[in-house]
Amino acid sequence: MFGFKKKTETTTERTYPMTIDGAPVTTDAADEVINPATLDVVGLAPLCSPELLDTAVAAAQAAQVLWAREPDEVRKEACRKMAGVLTENAAELAELLTREQGKPLKGLGSEFELGGCAGWAGYAAELDMPVKILQEDETARVEQHRVPVGVVGSITPWNWPLMIAIWHIVPAIRAGNAVVIKPSPFTPLSTLRMVELLNTVLPKGVLNCVTGEGPIGGAMSGHDGIDKIVFTGSTATGRKIMQSAAGNLKRLTLELGGNDAGIVLPDTKSKEIAEGIFWGAFINGGQTCAALKRLYVHDAIYDEMCAELAALAEAIPMGDGLDEASALGPLQNEMQLNKVAALVDDARAQGAKILTGGARLDRPGYFYPITLVADIAAGARLVDEEQFGTALPIIRYSDIDDAIAQANGLDFGLAASVWSSNLDAARSVAARIEAGTVYINKHGEVAPHIPFGGVKGSGIGVEFGQEGLEANTDIKIYNIAK
Ligand code: NAD
Repeated sequence: MFGFKKKTETTTERTYPMTIDGAPVTTDAADEVINPATLDVVGLAPLCSPELLDTAVAAAQAAQVLWAREPDEVRKEACRKMAGVLTENAAELAELLTREQGKPLKGLGSEFELGGCAGWAGYAAELDMPVKILQEDETARVEQHRVPVGVVGSITPWNWPLMIAIWHIVPAIRAGNAVVIKPSPFTPLSTLRMVELLNTVLPKGVLNCVTGEGPIGGAMSGHDGIDKIVFTGSTATGRKIMQSAAGNLKRLTLELGGNDAGIVLPDTKSKEIAEGIFWGAFINGGQTCAALKRLYVHDAIYDEMCAELAALAEAIPMGDGLDEASALGPLQNEMQLNKVAALVDDARAQGAKILTGGARLDRPGYFYPITLVADIAAGARLVDEEQFGTALPIIRYSDIDDAIAQANGLDFGLAASVWSSNLDAARSVAARIEAGTVYINKHGEVAPHIPFGGVKGSGIGVEFGQEGLEANTDIKIYNIAK
């Protein structure tokens, strides 16, 4: 149906086991995971029951108590070893990732994603959380410590399955927590395999993986044995998680949807920035939270900007990610394909101009070509909703105040970008944009040392950097009388 379906009598593909308390676990029921480029079955993922989730949480709780008692250097070394495992097994994991997710193996695809996994793990390994002395005088010594929250539940999406899993897992473990992770049912296999491999360098129970559909994520967010949820996915699901997390006042990091605006000022040379805009919008086929999803271009350079982007779109090869010639793969699942197609059809019906693409490719798989849509405005679904795919609305503006108001006019605030040859002009626009990150003359870069998160409907809290690590802890004060 949506890229995964129930195991049938004839299914012969391999089942990838969950890891619970260091051991492989399968279930009688399983989901078939589909390759979006060929529609072949890649493998089977177990369907975790509520009872098995309880077992995984209990294993994590037991392991966490011991893990938190280990010296800091032991946890750092474990994170270094995880980075090593990711590097050593990058080829196997990247191939599996391409087969289930669809992204190209090369370029900004699966091998790039595995490189990111090792990089983020290695960075988190070296972070410290020193005790802060808040007061030292004749009356008292007051110390501020960072202590682990306990068990962290991680729920991940299907667009960058491994990198996002590592973003959740490694800082949590580094800070002394144990983890239960649930990947998206569209792309569970690479996470199942990665967790199996990472368990070779971790004490049993510190990192557990369960698989299943939405209800298992719901059971995690309501589970009293889980102390924090770190979730990356849609805003709608983030809201549900926040509601069901209230029972035991879980800590939450929510990295939710984005509808990032890019604003191109009139002094910009469109030829110089076209490629940056193009990949800012279409990295991973646009299925990236902080992809550029609405482009506002000043009237003075609108037509030439559209022409530059269209020329790039027509030159980018799209195909099966295992084919080294492919720079873009299919959309990940049928639901996403239908969504992108519906938004483009709506734009066309409203009189917008389709510059490139505009219809599903006539071949097997969920291929939708790069579709640039001009002469479109607020009110069209392609502008107002997150498309998360290979279509970009290009909106003409003549008044910068109006462009900023439109950029801020939606309940999203993940990232945004301003493009200009004049840094002061770009900065003054950036200052007025409501977003967690505003890029200038680039879009979408994330890095292990730079905190990343959204405002408004795009989320709560940040990942990465010192702040991202500390989000896996509570503050504990020692207030010692003298
Ligand atoms: P999704 O919300 O449908 O699913 C994400 C995960 O939540 C999956 O594992 C799913 O099984 C689980 N889930 C579903 N229902 C649940 C429930 N009721 N309780 C708990 N868990 C539940 O999102 P998706 O379609 O997989 O991913 C696409 C979305 O993710 C886009 O909106 C995108 O912008 C967003 N995203 C955000 C970031 C970020 O960092 N802000 C990064 C990547 C993706």
